[in-house]
Amino acid sequence: MDFGFTEEQRIFQDSIRKFAVKEIAPLVEKAEETKTFPVGLYPKMGAQGYLSVTYDEKYGGAGADKVCDAILNFEIARISMAFSTTLSGQTLSTLPIKTFGNEQQKDKYLPMATSGNKIFAFGMTEPNAGSDSANIETTAKRNGDGYIINGTKMFVTNGPFADYITISASTDRNKKARGIAIFVIDKNTPGLKDMGKLEKMGHHSAETTEIVFEDCHIPKECLVGPPEGGFPALMESLYDSRVSVAAMIAGTADAAFESAMTYSKERVAFGRPICKFQVNRFKLVEMGMMVEISKILVYKAAWLSDQKRPFAKEASMAKLFASEAASHITYEAVQLHGGYGYMKEYPVERYFRDARLGTIFEGTSEIQHEIIARFMDI
Ligand SMILES: Cc1cc2nc3c(=O)[nH]c(=O)nc-3n(C[C@H](O)[C@H](O)[C@H](O)COP(=O)(O)OP(=O)(O)OC[C@H]3O[C@@H](n4cnc5c(N)ncnc54)[C@H](O)[C@@H]3O)c2cc1C
Repeated sequence: MDFGFTEEQRIFQDSIRKFAVKEIAPLVEKAEETKTFPVGLYPKMGAQGYLSVTYDEKYGGAGADKVCDAILNFEIARISMAFSTTLSGQTLSTLPIKTFGNEQQKDKYLPMATSGNKIFAFGMTEPNAGSDSANIETTAKRNGDGYIINGTKMFVTNGPFADYITISASTDRNKKARGIAIFVIDKNTPGLKDMGKLEKMGHHSAETTEIVFEDCHIPKECLVGPPEGGFPALMESLYDSRVSVAAMIAGTADAAFESAMTYSKERVAFGRPICKFQVNRFKLVEMGMMVEISKILVYKAAWLSDQKRPFAKEASMAKLFASEAASHITYEAVQLHGGYGYMKEYPVERYFRDARLGTIFEGTSEIQHEIIARFMDI
């Protein structure tokens, strides 16, 4: 058993950490304030091979492993979880194309995604179907040489500035999950309406929108995979991206833990640093252990994926544990900062708001319990 990174993974970690501090950190404050993502970061990330890390070099990817992808999301989220959510949206949106698309689709879409020249969003959730993702109401009806899309996609990350959106739509609602197909749609297609940015509790620099399709005509080439077998493909993409999401949540928790450690050693009350009170020392011990367990679960799931072994259960375990732990860790980090923890001057209030999304998106904690229970055959 070896818990260490390989030499290649260590070099990768070092380079993304330096990039995140130099190129990403200076952008965060303004992006949060203006609630606008600096899209110019996409081509910069692409030039370094940081978009779609695991994609084949043939398509402009870095050809690296899933552990590197987890390292990337961990390190970016240590600076800003909202940035990590935004940038990893590019990968999730193109995973179905990478895995199930035909060669023409891969040649067309993947290089523009990996270079960051075009931006992709992912639309599965609907106003009446989130966790129950097989119960979508968006339809895709055959029409001549293409399809007509009608329906609404909710909470679309990257929606406001995306060039393409990958969606699920039903070609036969009577068949429920078996009638679902995947489409990649140009956002300028007539009939596709962006309803404007949604106001959120946190993740201010990650832009989220609602997208409506009204008699939106698309060519048949937009269909990714078979017209009725898209659901398993979507689930497979989500298993993969769940590892990335768990990694970014663990990164946010790590940043909050580090801030709490630093502050607790410096802040003096009743004549001693507050970390010297047993209640706070124990809190910090538990926070540190939780970060460590989150990392072990994340990197184990990523490693299993790299070994081409089943990892869906471990991905759910990593996402479930890391997100519940991050909610606790960021809460306690604010508490340890006292009144300053409630002020914008310290980043812990942002970590707290951003981490709260962890137990909700990419499958809620309740859904992760259900998935794990299914694997346990209970
Ligand atoms: C900021 C943000 C960004 C997002 N980005 C995207 C995106 O880019 N693309 C996208 O497609 N989606 C996105 N989502 C949607 C997200 O994945 C969903 O919100 C999430 O899956 C939950 O769906 P829902 O909101 O419809 O809640 P619901 O499914 O209505 O759930 C409500 C509550 O009921 C519980 N519940 C539901 N079913 C069960 C069950 N079987 N057992 C026990 N409890 C259950 C849930 O756990 C939850 O607590 C985003 C959401 C947010 C907030």
